Amino acid sequence: MSNSLQLVRMLLFQTGLPSCCISYDIVARNIIEKIFLASTTNPSKQLPTIKKVLRVNNTIDMLEKFEKYRETVKKRSFGQYKNHPKITVDGNELLQFHITTMSCCYEHMVINPDELCKDPSCCVCRLIQFSFRTSYNSKNGILLSTNSDVLCEHANRVSKGMNVKRAVIVCRTIAGRVVSKDDVKLDEEYDSISIASGLHSRSQNLVIKDSSAVLPRFIIVLD
Ligand SMILES: [Zn+2]
Repeated sequence: MSNSLQLVRMLLFQTGLPSCCISYDIVARNIIEKIFLASTTNPSKQLPTIKKVLRVNNTIDMLEKFEKYRETVKKRSFGQYKNHPKITVDGNELLQFHITTMSCCYEHMVINPDELCKDPSCCVCRLIQFSFRTSYNSKNGILLSTNSDVLCEHANRVSKGMNVKRAVIVCRTIAGRVVSKDDVKLDEEYDSISIASGLHSRSQNLVIKDSSAVLPRFIIVLD
């Protein structure tokens, strides 16, 4: 994942790209597809077929909020977490997946936040519209995963219907200080909670407290 992440940084973390960058989009989508298929704890397990990958064209406001949050995490951690230099360097940025559903038929290769569908049941569009700030997420945090197979176990429980497709939002995430679910103390400062799941606890899910820490970059639409 770390080498892949470096490649993704080079290709995907650029900003201000016009939505007509077809060659950029094809390369980026191929990489995202490969990362998703390779991010499994069990390679023998069949993953759902990927129908398409869409890029989210982040607005300047979305990017500024994300970078501002990163700086807050870095400042807060300065001098505190000597064993976690990544927090002071980049806020402990990770590439994570969030499973949800999508009701609209997005025909373009790029999702523009000002052109989202109006369907209240389309979770992808509503999560992008409200920057993950839903009442459920405010109460419970945002559940993310590094592993595609664990995510697809959740996906099997997500109902799909005639017009509802399962979708994975690929997110840049400022994880900051991560504590294990079993070690959470009331008086302790942390930014996210890790929860082991899957066989032999090889997979880690992450619950992010602050929605500003999550920036949607791609949507993988599953069959
Ligand atoms: Zn929609």
